[in-house]
Amino acid sequence: MYESIIGLEVHAEVATQSKMFCGCPVVDLTQAAPNSAVCPVCTGMPGALPVVNRRAVEYGLRAALSLGCEIAPQSIFARKNYFYPDLPKGYQISQYKEPLAQNGELRIHASEGARVIRVRRVHLEEDTGKLTHVFPSPLSPLPKGEGHSLVDLNRAGVPLLEIVSEPDLRSAEEARLYGEALRNLLRYLGVNSGDMQKGVLRFEANVSVRPIGEQGFGTRTEIKNLNSFRALERSVAYEIVRQSELHRQGKPVIQQTMGWDEDRQVTAPQRWKEEEDDYRYFPEPDLPPLAVEGEWIEEIRRSLPELPQARFQRFVEQYRLSEYDADILVAEQPVADYFEALLRAAPKVSPKLAANWVTGELFGLMNQAGGSLSNLAVSPQALAGLLDMVEDGRINTPTAKIVLSGMFASGQPAEAIVEAKGLSQISDVDQITQMVSHVLDENPEQVTRYLEGKESLANWFFGQVMRAAEGKANPQVVKDELTRQLSLKMSGK
Ligand code: ADP
Ligand code: MG
Ligand code: ZN
Repeated sequence: MYESIIGLEVHAEVATQSKMFCGCPVVDLTQAAPNSAVCPVCTGMPGALPVVNRRAVEYGLRAALSLGCEIAPQSIFARKNYFYPDLPKGYQISQYKEPLAQNGELRIHASEGARVIRVRRVHLEEDTGKLTHVFPSPLSPLPKGEGHSLVDLNRAGVPLLEIVSEPDLRSAEEARLYGEALRNLLRYLGVNSGDMQKGVLRFEANVSVRPIGEQGFGTRTEIKNLNSFRALERSVAYEIVRQSELHRQGKPVIQQTMGWDEDRQVTAPQRWKEEEDDYRYFPEPDLPPLAVEGEWIEEIRRSLPELPQARFQRFVEQYRLSEYDADILVAEQPVADYFEALLRAAPKVSPKLAANWVTGELFGLMNQAGGSLSNLAVSPQALAGLLDMVEDGRINTPTAKIVLSGMFASGQPAEAIVEAKGLSQISDVDQITQMVSHVLDENPEQVTRYLEGKESLANWFFGQVMRAAEGKANPQVVKDELTRQLSLKMSGK
């Protein structure tokens, strides 16, 4: 039996207005014209001088403090030298030996319970440009041999935060959970938009396997450029199986860089000579050491919001929610805020019921609308109005779901819809007594079979009464009355 060992390197674009070492704006690559947000610094013109973006450092510190890292009083930018067409300077400015922060941790909620994953380091660097390869293909019929690559330097110099874990993850699922927890955290902090489709969060997974019980680590491979949680989880799972198989056959695992082939769902070796070479790191001569004063750190620490992990703990303790519900509710700050606003507006409603409505019906409607909570026509106060009516027994749950769709579509309050459509629940015992006797009178055959022992017909009678009441009857009152009338018949009265 083998055990898998995984460490993740995560690159997060930092949501600043301008780039890491120049004043160029950070633009949306899918919107802006290629090479429209560039200057001599980020295009690597000789003699151009970099200046550190204070805001990027602040964001980096927000993330590092939230991960419980030790902040270095002084960190050093270095040149990482290599050639690639998306890197006009011929080196990337990154922090190497002395990073911004070290020794943090991130908690994940795996199926076996909570796990603490150690974070080795957090450092700042700059992104590269973006290459688009245009291959001759049946779809783009270029003459043979006319393939070429396009380079867009709008992304060159965009601040990146690199967060490196210790090899503490033990399964593909844990790798995904770690990635998700980190995304949630960065979104709470406003450090990264979490918009995976735009590639603002990229993962590199280092994977090795070893026989269970062994202490040392086996040879690892590194899967580069994963930009979805699905790709992360699947590629790691694939690599674990592949390496375990090699071990079983007594063959060596070769240390190499792999890519994830989305079409074939396999990992494949990437032979990039440059990556293996010595980067010949040396301190960036154009930038002084980055000194971070204690006072600034404290100021940033004070400005941190309640983080997902703390909120999760509070939701479980204060509201007695299951860990499952709490996990879903805290994942996104606007959802957690909505939930708590709902509870404040509906003090009679139990947190469990409120959680079910938010994660069930409300999420369903939100997905239908393809939107986020922020542009939802149903405010927490409006939903509270609806749940109060359920709690008071004025409407039953199926009716409430219909009313919610109405609120979602029209923006009207629950009261108004219930009034206008006459949806109030019938709880009046006399009225329900009549409906029950009517149904029993109309169906003598079924009553006979029930009396002969076919007890399951009780559900059928219940359905008939609810149908007669157009779903508006109080189900408990109907059940009680039905039981009463049927047992009277049983005893022959
Ligand atoms: P590099 O900078 O060359 O990529 P590092 O030693 O800094 O290498 O490690 C990078 C990542 O690889 C870290 O997340 C670390 O936890 C992980 N890692 C290191 N050794 C192993 C291993 N044997 N198996 C799995 N992951 C590993
Ligand atoms: Mg690496
Ligand atoms: Zn620039």
